[in-house]
Amino acid sequence: MNIILFGPPGAGKGTQAKYLVKKLNGFQISTGEILRNEIKDNTEIGAKISKDIDNGKFVSDEIVNYLIKDIIFDPNKKNNLIFDGYPRTISQAKNLDSLLENSNQKIDFIFFLNVNKEIIIKRIEKRKILEDRTDDETNTILKRYDTYMQTTKPVLEFYSKNPNFKEIDGSQEIDQITRKIDNFLNV
Ligand code: AMP
Repeated sequence: MNIILFGPPGAGKGTQAKYLVKKLNGFQISTGEILRNEIKDNTEIGAKISKDIDNGKFVSDEIVNYLIKDIIFDPNKKNNLIFDGYPRTISQAKNLDSLLENSNQKIDFIFFLNVNKEIIIKRIEKRKILEDRTDDETNTILKRYDTYMQTTKPVLEFYSKNPNFKEIDGSQEIDQITRKIDNFLNV
């Protein structure tokens, strides 16, 4: 099964992705984590993207699309993909559609975790203390939220017509969101 977790930063996509990886024995594609690892490993790509990430800006579609391509075609991961933080632009969504088509795959569920700005700011400030992420400063959080509203929200329209698109109230407790996801999976 291939699943997209969609929603603003701090919606709980990573937490639910980890749950789904365990439940379905799946493979998490977190572009944020992939990009942070490029920086940590001091790669050429890492050097190009660290400023953008620290400033709450998106990394170019070209780089992100390049980094996920091999994972989608990996026969060991195929049809077992949990997307967390990708796609985030219309161009990424179209790229994903074509990669999936070319590898004979489809998206089984798109879970949209919907959360308002106030809750996001509170959650991310908490996460900063726990995970020490350089992009979790309050100013950067606000920039990331604005980028989400401008660039990622339009992707919702792209997916909302899909019969497998399911909106979930992401302001609920982790367990409640997990239960909702489970309900959709078990129908
Ligand atoms: P995340 O861990 O998903 O919150 O992502 C952290 C940061 O990585 C984002 O604020 C962006 O700067 C960058 N990033 C992650 N995923 C993407 C993506 N699909 N497209 C562009 N930039 C991304």
